[in-house]
Amino acid sequence: MRFSKFFIPTFKEVPKDVILKSHEYLLRGGFIQQIGSGIYNFLPLGKKVLDKISRIVKNKMDEAGANEVLLGCVTPASLWQASGRYDRYGKELLRFKDRKENEFVFGPTHEETITELAKTYIKSYKQLPLHFYQIQTKFRDEIRPRFGLMRGREFIMKDGYSFHSNYEDLKREFDVMEKTYSAIFLELGLDFRAVEADSGAIGGSGSKEFMVLAESGEDTICVCDSCSYAANLEAANRLPKMPLTTPPEANFAKFHTPQIRTIESLAEFFKVDSYWTLKAVVKKALFDGGKSEFVFFFLRGCDSLNETKALNAINGANEIVDASEEELRKLGLFPRFIGPYALRNLTQSPYIYFDLELQNAKNLICGANEEDYHFVGVDLGLFEGLEFKDLLEVKEGDYCKECHKGKLYFTKGIEVGHIFQLGEKYSQAMEATFLDEEGKAKPFVMGCYGIGISRLLAAIIEQNHDEKGMKWTATTAPFLLDIVVSNIKDENQSELAEKIYHALSANGIECLLDDRKERYGAKMADFELIGIPYALIVGKGVEEGKIELVCRKNLEKINLEIADFESLIEKIKQNLQM
Ligand code: ATP
Ligand code: MG
Repeated sequence: MRFSKFFIPTFKEVPKDVILKSHEYLLRGGFIQQIGSGIYNFLPLGKKVLDKISRIVKNKMDEAGANEVLLGCVTPASLWQASGRYDRYGKELLRFKDRKENEFVFGPTHEETITELAKTYIKSYKQLPLHFYQIQTKFRDEIRPRFGLMRGREFIMKDGYSFHSNYEDLKREFDVMEKTYSAIFLELGLDFRAVEADSGAIGGSGSKEFMVLAESGEDTICVCDSCSYAANLEAANRLPKMPLTTPPEANFAKFHTPQIRTIESLAEFFKVDSYWTLKAVVKKALFDGGKSEFVFFFLRGCDSLNETKALNAINGANEIVDASEEELRKLGLFPRFIGPYALRNLTQSPYIYFDLELQNAKNLICGANEEDYHFVGVDLGLFEGLEFKDLLEVKEGDYCKECHKGKLYFTKGIEVGHIFQLGEKYSQAMEATFLDEEGKAKPFVMGCYGIGISRLLAAIIEQNHDEKGMKWTATTAPFLLDIVVSNIKDENQSELAEKIYHALSANGIECLLDDRKERYGAKMADFELIGIPYALIVGKGVEEGKIELVCRKNLEKINLEIADFESLIEKIKQNLQM
């Protein structure tokens, strides 16, 4: 491809309101054009990268045995009504009517459409399992579209859906997809982690997100420094904490503790590690119809509550909010002196939960539910019917539950993929069934698998750029080599460049020939901005039989002798590290 004929509208000015480098460079490099809030045109360079990413994804999905389809991006609202999501999905869903007043949605995702497809064609367990996928434009009316392709309203996704006759087979496919996704992101040249997500209904391993590690990532992820364990903060677990100090053994007794305001002052008062104290966190859970209930969470004093885990603990709650001191006092409770003793007599709330690590904990110090008093020598093993849940937020430095020796630390990630064991949620709601071996109708067991194809352009650049511009990875670069003719009017230079261009192209190397009548400096600035992995500079050196190869990654240069053309081409090829 010749630069002079290829549409690459680069510019220097940093656009207004642009925060991320990927956003700035993709605009300035002429890859994308913003045409509305969260809506982008892909220009030729952007389309080339998009196609490369799609190709890699497609090949790996096909290898894994999935069937490519292309579903309508406009979906009749009736399907969304059948699944119950038409009302629940909220304002992110773009809804509209046709001339006959029929209602439609522009698909933000396609569980409904694919479930309808399966319902129509799959009648027997003998046809299962089946996996369908597509690469398609989605629309989500995101509340805050931002960061360019990172969070658009119109964006391109690979979405796949699998159908199974039982949960074991779903699990098998989920594992296949985890491997397939890892292979995809590896081939894209990314540093990523498969992260345990969503500690909700299905639990840790039923859902994994693929995160590209980048400082600008919106998600905080918890990673082990010695094995591959990684999890979202709301799904992260640690090796249960061991006491660092000897237990403060004491007979059960009540103590006057008037000055106590915090867990720290409590620990100091009794000269114990806060590990031995019991912390109460009281919240209010909000339910549909404006109903609310007090919720009591108990954790060790050294730990803190993870809000998502807390919300997940309460069936049907939409939100949890702080309970005020005043509200607690009205209940007959004393903030800072709340404990489990006689709590059931003080509150009607059924929601009293203890963190899992408190199972059989003893030698604890807790509030006495009396102003200015605490109990010591508390043994939770003596209580009956306590409910234990995973509540605590892991901290940096906690030990890894998988390898037991690594320590956990936090880092930032960009979500580029999500695999999820859906189960029967949609098949049940939409009455999509098959006949099992006994001839009984059963709802399909489903999995769903997404990849943010257009977000990947941004994620690759967030992980690979410098102050001059982008650095595409070898498999995603729009071209592998930029042949820069320093002075196009110099016949020696332009003839040699043409010859090299043809020879390398014939060898299957994607070259861009910068044959523009621009200054050398401007051409190099474009090379650095656009981020093609290598540039071959055909300049003044030609007179002395030399050309230069520049590597975009580190901007290192190597000199190549022209002497014999065949061996020059070989040398260039070797240096392109294909
Ligand atoms: P997020 O938490 O970032 O909103 P999500 O959980 O809504 O993502 P999914 O519904 O799982 O995302 O969609 C699959 C993939 O599509 C995501 O992993 C992400 O890479 C991509 N994606 C989701 N929303 C957007 C968006 N608004 N713009 C670009 N890509 C997106
Ligand atoms: Mg979203």
